[in-house]
Amino acid sequence: MIYIDGQLYENKKEARISVYDHGLLYGDGVFEGIRIYNGRAFRLQAHLDRLFASARTIRLEIPESVESFGRIIGEMIAKSGKREAYIRLVVTRGVGDLGLNPLKCSNPTVIIILDDISLYPKEYYERGIRVCTSFWRRPPADCINPRVKSLNYLNNILATIEANDNGCQEALMLNKEGLVAECSADNIFHVSRGALFTPELAEGALKGITRDVVLELAENIGLETKECRVSLFDLYDADEVFLTGSGAELVPVIEVDRRTIGNGVPGPVTAQIREAFQREISR
Ligand code: PMP
Repeated sequence: MIYIDGQLYENKKEARISVYDHGLLYGDGVFEGIRIYNGRAFRLQAHLDRLFASARTIRLEIPESVESFGRIIGEMIAKSGKREAYIRLVVTRGVGDLGLNPLKCSNPTVIIILDDISLYPKEYYERGIRVCTSFWRRPPADCINPRVKSLNYLNNILATIEANDNGCQEALMLNKEGLVAECSADNIFHVSRGALFTPELAEGALKGITRDVVLELAENIGLETKECRVSLFDLYDADEVFLTGSGAELVPVIEVDRRTIGNGVPGPVTAQIREAFQREISR
């Protein structure tokens, strides 16, 4: 089911936008990826807050309110009858001419896609995945701010190609200083001496909604949590590593750059947080 600027389409072949849309021509826009669990959009308010913050940063005025997004998404979920699904919410600069000036784009395009989620294979969660550090760095905030979830994903896509080439399931991305920022589409955590660490946002990480949930759950469990500067050495030396994202949820990492993490199997703290996460999404 697809919503474009007030119109709902049941047939995806009929849901079309202009080739002059600057989302297509220039990657000029913002988006969110939201999970539906038990017929409800998980952490919808946090996703909408991030969408509006991203839009404000790129000077894009979203022509809908948080409330109307909530209503439209609620209607789409009800109409689809789905209990488990995925929503992709996209707002582009809209239709303009072939120049890049956004002044020529008078109406942002609002797209909401509700579809089935293609999940990572079960074995990734049972056995863990391998990641490798990409040559491509996350851009500094004064180039393309990694806090903005924009339609410019080429940086992340190039890293993904590299992970594919190396037979890895995700690419680890550093910032220009060589510190760990995040992965191509996931945030990263590590466990060391019983405490939980994740790169601080200033090091080039997206403020992941799942990241925030994990920090919350870890504190409830009584784990010490730290958002800090993380080096590759910290990861190589960690007892456990895992990734978080709306699509991936929590996925254990058993190898970073050919260094085995812990015992080479998903660790107990990761399992404990995964269980808490499962409880959280089924509430
Ligand atoms: N970092 C990047 C670059 C992402 O694209 C995403 C979303 N897939 C994440 C982290 C994880 O964020 P969230 O938990 O909000 O899905």
